[in-house]
Amino acid sequence: MINRMFNSQAALATFAVISSIILGLLAGCSPSSEPESALGSVESIEMNDALVVYSSRNEHLIRPVFALFTEETGIDVEYATDKAGVLIERIKAEGKNTPADVLITVDAGTLGYAAQQGIFQPLDSADVVERVPAYLRDDKDYWTGLSLRARTIVYSTERVNPEQLSSYQDLGASQWQGRVCLRTSKKVYNQSLVAMLIAEQGEAKAESIVSSWVANLAIPPTSNDTKLMEAILAGQCDVGIINTYYFGRLQEKQENLPLALFWPNQTEEENSGVHVNVAGVGILKHSKNAAQAKRLVEWLVSDSAQALFAGVNKEYPINDSVEINPQVASWGSFKQNPLPLSQAYLLQPAAVKLMDRAGYK
Ligand code: FE
Repeated sequence: MINRMFNSQAALATFAVISSIILGLLAGCSPSSEPESALGSVESIEMNDALVVYSSRNEHLIRPVFALFTEETGIDVEYATDKAGVLIERIKAEGKNTPADVLITVDAGTLGYAAQQGIFQPLDSADVVERVPAYLRDDKDYWTGLSLRARTIVYSTERVNPEQLSSYQDLGASQWQGRVCLRTSKKVYNQSLVAMLIAEQGEAKAESIVSSWVANLAIPPTSNDTKLMEAILAGQCDVGIINTYYFGRLQEKQENLPLALFWPNQTEEENSGVHVNVAGVGILKHSKNAAQAKRLVEWLVSDSAQALFAGVNKEYPINDSVEINPQVASWGSFKQNPLPLSQAYLLQPAAVKLMDRAGYK
């Protein structure tokens, strides 16, 4: 058994090295800038009996969080990062022999998919129930949100008067003809956005909204949120829909960015609120260290971890008693859409078909 564990740990270390090389290549930076495996050595895992986390959240966002956890609890954390789909397949393939205890990933659609694959065990935590609002965690208790991002409207401050903006659905109005940018419908963020639109408005209304957006597109959908903002900056379009932290990153890079965020659906008539989503966590069904994994999850929703976990990615803490990162706070406050995020996964197949019918590429 020890030998088997050793082998799976070694396999995981190899996996982490390969993953970091691939990620390095994708990021356009030399893998040699990160010479050590993100997972640490096999010996260190055996000696410390460390918790093992698989994370689709990037290393620079989780490393400081785990460092603080280790400092506060004495529990070491080893981790491997990769795309969510790769990690979920890996966990399924490893089965009972997985060295991993916890999966951290982003978007309720992805968390719901992971839960549906049967890789999680219930969190069963009074702390999570107390600290995380019910709509930001799984209704079957397989995952919880850890930080919150809004998927909201971004606009050119040079060409748009914010008084012209009101709601998501209004981006399909005639005043935005040829002025709208959207990210590709293949991205889970937009699948969740449309799923929540179906939950809120019903399928027929949601389809007419998405069709009206497509009719107003200035250019074909962009591959990511940053490219969408770059298209606005280049004058190709004037408004779009993005996750807040991408705006935060661009704002940090470029002083006096001629872009601003707008919080839609805040008035009496359009009062459904801003579409929000989460980065979240689940404990693996085959974790050999479930008690400590639960300790990590409970620590992650605690006050001391929340500001750091959310702040490093310019997100909002899940627990609203925690102070928001000052840059994020500067964007103003808004009413969130309180629909349960569990629906983002359940309605995803309908959302994907709807976007296809609407001609949203
Ligand atoms: Fe993202």
